[in-house]
This record gives sequence, C-alpha cells and structure tokens, in this order.
Amino acid sequence: MLEATGISKVFGRLRAVDDVSAEVRQGEILGLIGPNGAGKSTFFNCLTGDLAPTTGSVRFLGEDITTRSPEARAELGLARTFQLPQTFTGMTVLENVMIGAFLRTSVTAEARERARRILDIVDMAHLAQTPAKTLGTPGRKRLEIARALATEPKLLLLDEAMAGLNPTEVRAAIDLVRVIHGMGITLVIVEHIMEVINSLADRVIVFHQGREIARGTPREVTGDPTVIEAYLGK
Ligand code: ADP
Ligand code: MG
Repeated sequence: MLEATGISKVFGRLRAVDDVSAEVRQGEILGLIGPNGAGKSTFFNCLTGDLAPTTGSVRFLGEDITTRSPEARAELGLARTFQLPQTFTGMTVLENVMIGAFLRTSVTAEARERARRILDIVDMAHLAQTPAKTLGTPGRKRLEIARALATEPKLLLLDEAMAGLNPTEVRAAIDLVRVIHGMGITLVIVEHIMEVINSLADRVIVFHQGREIARGTPREVTGDPTVIEAYLGK
C-alpha cells in the first residue's frame, strides 16, 4: 500500500533518520517504536509530506508521492494525526470534524452529516456543540482522530495517539483503534510505549538513533536483546 525506500532526514549535523525503508501492507496495523528522539516522528513526517526527506522516496497506492503536499496525499487517502493535537480552538467539536469532511465535499450539509456520523463512531456525539478549546488532552486526541477519519482515509497514521493518557483512557483509545481497523482502514501507529504496540500491531519496526534496529512481530522484537538494550540504554 505504501512503500518508503532509503529515507534519510538530516537537520544540520544531525542525521535524525538514516536510510530507513519500510512498507505498509493493506489491512495491517504497523507499529513504529523506539525511545524518545529515535526518529519516529521525523520518519512519519516524511511519509505524510510534512517534511521533505533528504534522500529516499515514498510510493502510495502505486504513485510516487515523494514531493506531493500533505493535502495531495490526503486526497489520495492518506491521513494523519499529530503528536501534539492540532485542534482549531475557535471552533466547536463538530466544526473541527467538518474541516476534515470538506476534503470530500463542498456542500456544508453533507460535511455536517458526515462529521456527525464520525462523532458517533468515536463516541463524541454528545460533545458536538462543545467549543474545542474546552477539551482536555484525551478529548483533543480523539477529535484529531475524528477529523482525520472524516477525510475518508485508506491509510491512517497516528503519532503517539496514547501519549499523555491515563491507563483507562489508553484502553479506550486502543478500543477505538480496533474500531477504525474494523472499518477497513490500514494503520501505522507510532508509540514509545511497548505495551500499546503489543496489543495492537501485526508488525513492528524498532527505531534507535535514526536507524532501524529490529523488525518483526511484537513478540519477536520485545525479546530481541538489541531492542532491550536500546530501551535500557536511553
Ligand atoms: P521521536 O519521534 O522518535 O521521539 P523525532 O523524530 O521527533 O524522534 O526526533 C529525532 C531527532 O531529530 C531528535 O534528536 C530531535 O531532537 C531531532 N529533530 C526533530 N525535528 C527536528 C527539527 N525540525 N530540527 C532539528 N532537529 C530535529
Ligand atoms: Mg515523536
């Protein structure tokens, strides 16, 4: 579905991502894990078009999208959320989700209808008219997911959707990811918490200092001495 080949990203003298290749298969949940600063978000941003890779290429559904804008990628069916929620704070919850829906329709009534459907799915229907700025972190994270879903993605990339949530909220977020997967949407999830990945991902790629140090099933990588050392040594 998506294929990233030889991705590197250099910031000044720092090689934040160093020659990483990865493919995402239709229908799977792919996890990207690694300690803080490992290069997960930078790699992720090269897939979404928020950063231009220094080297390497990205293909999505057979098309080379390496130089396409995030908006053009969204039109092709690639949506994302941000590690720090990017909520439109001057709008209601419903209006925030409508922004996503406007990618597929210019008719306000249709966008509203679609947004309401999505709010039902993410369990936020009762908050439709709430000003988005009054939401806490869990609400904003969920709202971001809702807005991304409203763009009708084929592939959804979540950057630390669980960070800053308490254990109960993490369980609810895991359930939501399962619901989204059940809708036929392929997912890439970035997490630094191993447990979240263990319960969701079919396959995992482990990052450390900008490089891939392991890949496999969650069970395979958590037992890998190189991975254990990367986490303990941070
Ligand atoms: P992760 O998401 O795995 O925690 P990041 O991809 O955010 O890691 O960061 C990888 C490295 O790149 C870190 O050392 C970080 O400080 C650095 N970095 C990230 N973004 C930038 C930037 N825009 N400019 C300079 N350095 C950056
Ligand atoms: Mg990050």
